[in-house]
Amino acid sequence: MSLLVVGSVAFDAIETPFGKTDKIVGGAASYISLATSYFTKGTKLVAVVGEDFPQEFIETLQNRGVSTEGLQIKQGEKSFFWSGKYHTDMNSRDTLITELNVLGNFDPIIPESYQDCEFLMLGNLTPAVQQTVINRLTKRPKLIVMDTMNFWMEIALDDLKKTISMVDVLTINDEEARQLSGEYSLVKAAAKIQAMGPKYLIIKKGENGALLFHGKEVFFAPALPLEEVFDPTGAGDTFAGGFIGYLAKTGDISFENMKNAIIYGSAMASFCVEKFGTERIMDLKEDELQARIQQFQKLVKFGALSF
Ligand code: AMP
Repeated sequence: MSLLVVGSVAFDAIETPFGKTDKIVGGAASYISLATSYFTKGTKLVAVVGEDFPQEFIETLQNRGVSTEGLQIKQGEKSFFWSGKYHTDMNSRDTLITELNVLGNFDPIIPESYQDCEFLMLGNLTPAVQQTVINRLTKRPKLIVMDTMNFWMEIALDDLKKTISMVDVLTINDEEARQLSGEYSLVKAAAKIQAMGPKYLIIKKGENGALLFHGKEVFFAPALPLEEVFDPTGAGDTFAGGFIGYLAKTGDISFENMKNAIIYGSAMASFCVEKFGTERIMDLKEDELQARIQQFQKLVKFGALSF
């Protein structure tokens, strides 16, 4: 089923305890659309880059079946740039630089051929732009999933809350859930955030897995214990891509199927962190993914419990 992905396509400079990169390709929508490409050949990208962005990466997306008709390339302008530094535990990071550049005045134009999309993934982006995308679709998609981050809570909270009220699923990390809700308890935070609009909430906890909330129900997916986490950048986006990609592939948006989808999201994210940037998720093999899904099953499977 067709799936529209919107979000930043960018340059990142990353510092982890294992090393440092110069400007490499990143951006929420880059990770998301690479991840969704393993589930559907119907991924359609809406994003903006400057003339400095490498054509080679755009071709990689196209070769993976992602439509880039909605990717605007702004001559004479620079791509979005983000730089972050991870702490030793790799679970937390500081943003060092955010240069909006082309994102500063991004007008998301939806090509006519994208109008039939049944799934919409609003990756991390200016909340007002995420909202414009929803408003420009002639038919509301079957499912709208949105990701965001603390940066937007700090500078565009009203727009952010309005956009959140329009989506079905929100994915954020634990610290952001606390910041958005003003509650320390994630259970209380989840209730408050669901009251803002989304019927489903995914709280990502890095190496501690992810929680899926729906009303009073909650489901937990662990993160795979990995010997080495090299670079967590994009893990949240890759997770979101795996999640919505699986839902789009199966066409089933029930809570039960969302449980499977967060396992697929977690499996995709476990690859992402193994190398810097998008490198590890550029060319995964189907059997690698299936083997990881089995590792997840083994990790949490136990027999009947009785006293
Ligand atoms: P994640 O590690 O999943 O939170 O996502 C990291 C990606 O988010 C990086 O590749 C950045 O380019 C992108 N990013 C960082 N800050 C922003 C922002 N304010 N808006 C949009 N994308 C961002």
